[in-house]
Amino acid sequence: MSFIRTVLGDIAPDQLGVCYAHEHIIIDASFTTVVDADFLLDDVDAASRELAEFHQLGGRAVIDSMPCDSGRNVMKLAEVSRRSGVHIVCPTGLHLAKYYDPGHWGNSYSEDELAALFLSEITEGIDARDCNGPFPQRSPHRAGLIKIATGETITPRAEKIFAAAAAAHRVTGCPILTHTEQGTLGLAQVEMLGKHGVDLRHVVLSHLDRKPDPAYHREILSTGVRVEYDSAFRWKPEQGNPTLDLLLELISEFPDQIMLGMDAARRSYWKHHGGSPGMGFLLTTFTDQMKSAGLADIDLYRIFITNPAQAYAFRKISQG
Ligand SMILES: [Zn+2]
Repeated sequence: MSFIRTVLGDIAPDQLGVCYAHEHIIIDASFTTVVDADFLLDDVDAASRELAEFHQLGGRAVIDSMPCDSGRNVMKLAEVSRRSGVHIVCPTGLHLAKYYDPGHWGNSYSEDELAALFLSEITEGIDARDCNGPFPQRSPHRAGLIKIATGETITPRAEKIFAAAAAAHRVTGCPILTHTEQGTLGLAQVEMLGKHGVDLRHVVLSHLDRKPDPAYHREILSTGVRVEYDSAFRWKPEQGNPTLDLLLELISEFPDQIMLGMDAARRSYWKHHGGSPGMGFLLTTFTDQMKSAGLADIDLYRIFITNPAQAYAFRKISQG
């Protein structure tokens, strides 16, 4: 039986419901928020209210995207999940080097050390070194995802982290979510993960619509990976909506591989921090836009429900 590992426990994939595929629910004070104070999302009350509204609109699950020590706080995520009734998946993994102090352990750990850390967070519990909870090392909440990233080039650090993530995936079947820089290097990411024996059906490439070139998307989707688009609310009026254009162009060819998220990692995007458009956007304004542009109910059902349920389920590991 496959499962999805949420912060409050494992659930059957068909229990996930309407899911946003790349979110930032909590970002605690950290090197990340020193880089840009607008990233600070440390308020459990505000996050719970934002997600309660999402729940009212039919939302049932979000995939949080902050890996080890980048402002991640699994204790707060668990509390928000309890209060809002929304499933939350929390990742292990590592983000881009720019979100860490130059002396961070992520730079010096070996591939094996990183793989062991990722593995322990998936099987035993998320390390509490980046939590404010009462647990000196291990929280009672396990990671359900491995988040990794490439920047403008593939650095040796990224190669090491991708190899470590692949090793943890091979043992556990844990899904992998990647950050792409403005949608670039998607094929290189797929190649690295494929080379290390990762099941590409459990890999999600984020932010691909920031490079809205249909030929590029076709090449990536043809490998079997899933992609996540999150710029629907970011385009300026004079740009039209390339995210919507990509969906219209690709959904019938790759119906099981495309998902949507907000990636709203800024206070200024959250209604409950006084910003806009708020977490409800994809289920209100953008759903209306997708329907008037000709997407069918079954397309939306796949984008929001069945595709995340398949992508974020653990791959079945054959016994013996
Ligand atoms: Zn993100």
